[in-house]
Amino acid sequence: MEVQELVGVGIGTGIVVGPVLHASRQAAAAPTDAASTIGAEAELDRARTALAAVSQQLRERAEAADEATRDVLEAQALMTEDPALLDGVEAGLASGVTAEKAVADAFAEFAALLADAGEYFAERAADLHDLSDRAVAVLQGRSTDLVVDPGHPYVLVARDLAPADTAVLDLDRVLAFVTSEGGPTSHTAILARQRGIVALVGAGGVESLPDGTQVIVDAERGRVFVDPDAAELADAEARIAAREAEASAPAGPGALADGTPVKLLANLGKPGEAKGAVEMGAEGVGLFRTEFLFLDSADAPTVEEQTESYREVLEAFPGKRVVVRLLDAGADKPLAFLSPGEEENPALGKRGLRALRASEQVLQDQLTALAAADAATDAELWVMAPMVATVEETRFVTRAIHEAGIPVAGVMVEIPSVALIADRVLAQTDFASIGTNDLTQYTMAADRQLGSVAALQDPWHPAVLRLVSEVGAAGAASGKPVGVCGEAAADPLLAVVLAGLGVTSLSMSPTALSDVRVSLARYSMDDARAIAHAALAASEAADAREAARAAADTTTAGKIPA
Ligand code: PEP
Ligand code: MG
Repeated sequence: MEVQELVGVGIGTGIVVGPVLHASRQAAAAPTDAASTIGAEAELDRARTALAAVSQQLRERAEAADEATRDVLEAQALMTEDPALLDGVEAGLASGVTAEKAVADAFAEFAALLADAGEYFAERAADLHDLSDRAVAVLQGRSTDLVVDPGHPYVLVARDLAPADTAVLDLDRVLAFVTSEGGPTSHTAILARQRGIVALVGAGGVESLPDGTQVIVDAERGRVFVDPDAAELADAEARIAAREAEASAPAGPGALADGTPVKLLANLGKPGEAKGAVEMGAEGVGLFRTEFLFLDSADAPTVEEQTESYREVLEAFPGKRVVVRLLDAGADKPLAFLSPGEEENPALGKRGLRALRASEQVLQDQLTALAAADAATDAELWVMAPMVATVEETRFVTRAIHEAGIPVAGVMVEIPSVALIADRVLAQTDFASIGTNDLTQYTMAADRQLGSVAALQDPWHPAVLRLVSEVGAAGAASGKPVGVCGEAAADPLLAVVLAGLGVTSLSMSPTALSDVRVSLARYSMDDARAIAHAALAASEAADAREAARAAADTTTAGKIPA
């Protein structure tokens, strides 16, 4: 009998075998318009009590959680306590509905407001949906917990997972996450990468598998195999054993099989993440997103405040490369003190370097702080500018960085214009770093925040790969380093393609480092070039991925055991 397969987006390259267990809370019935039988006053009391219970639960969970999760949970508790939310509930109850319905509607109204306000806020909107589910569960007298621990390891199946759910899960029991919704940037995917848990997201159809169904979750192939036969199981076990052997090999510097170095660097958003990155084998930092430090600041940060944050990161990497990006304000990352006023289309507006040039004092202060942090530490500081579109901008910012006393200056390649004339751009600066997230957005004219065009946001698209190859070729011709610091670098097979296109360093969320290191070590530079060539020759993103997979399989080292 043909084994049933479900297709999704694999996160990383892991593979596991185990029984399905469904998250149950989300399956509850949505509140209806049924009229209240106890009156608005009593319903308001119920709503108030339920919201307080949710908030208290979140705060208790926050206390026991790690730092990053704690911040998220505390922010969620604050949302639940927002007086405007209760006002919304009270207004809803005036029409005679139940507390369940009024609470769900008030949360939905809040979420709709946030969903349009930029990526940072859109994530908070997703949190509100979860808080709403939680409050309704309390009102309906159901458990707010996601699963009842079955006492054995399991494959957790859910629509999507929220931070408040995963904060209390015993993750040691979870073999894999499989979600029917969500994409590679969902909380589920982020958590899976952070914790090294096998995951498949966007796997429609998984919700129909009964609890206890045996499955193979194969992230590398983006598949769930349902009720596998003996041959499938033996294949999976062999691949699991091979991966364990590869992972237990000592983590040296990133390199292809023939020894060609490909530096493996970390993407950081906060100084506190530096230590973990070192532990996970980062050879330095390829992207420190400085604007993340100031997303909540009303005023420009002082030189001293900035120096302290930069010093903390640089100190964690003595003798190593640390690439710091100048503030990238605008569009999905608005900074109150730097972003321009209303713009119809902020992704095409005064963002990144354009915003910095309009507020030169902010630029100068940041450069002063970076130079001071550099002088106080032993890391090798490189500084680069975001959203560079022209050679003139490249010249301007390279000069500004050098004049601040920082010897290595570079630009991000996020706009097709600079990729297309990368030779002329690299002639004016010391290095380039390709931001594939924005480069894909601008190449495909597909907003990276918009779910409805998410399918176009795929860095495997041959148009994006061709731009990368232009930059790689310009780097090789000029002898200047070309890195990739977008999400593409964290995809183990795409990493090989990027190396084949001439990219000399890859920067990613630290948890992806190990899978990428293993993947690179399987292929020589000749293999990588052949795999890249196959991907470049495709016409669609999905075909490029498949062509690369097929080309990789023909190299003896890359062959996935049959
Ligand atoms: C990118 O655009 O690929 C990038 C690395 O920058 P960010 O994701 O922060 O915009
Ligand atoms: Mg970017």
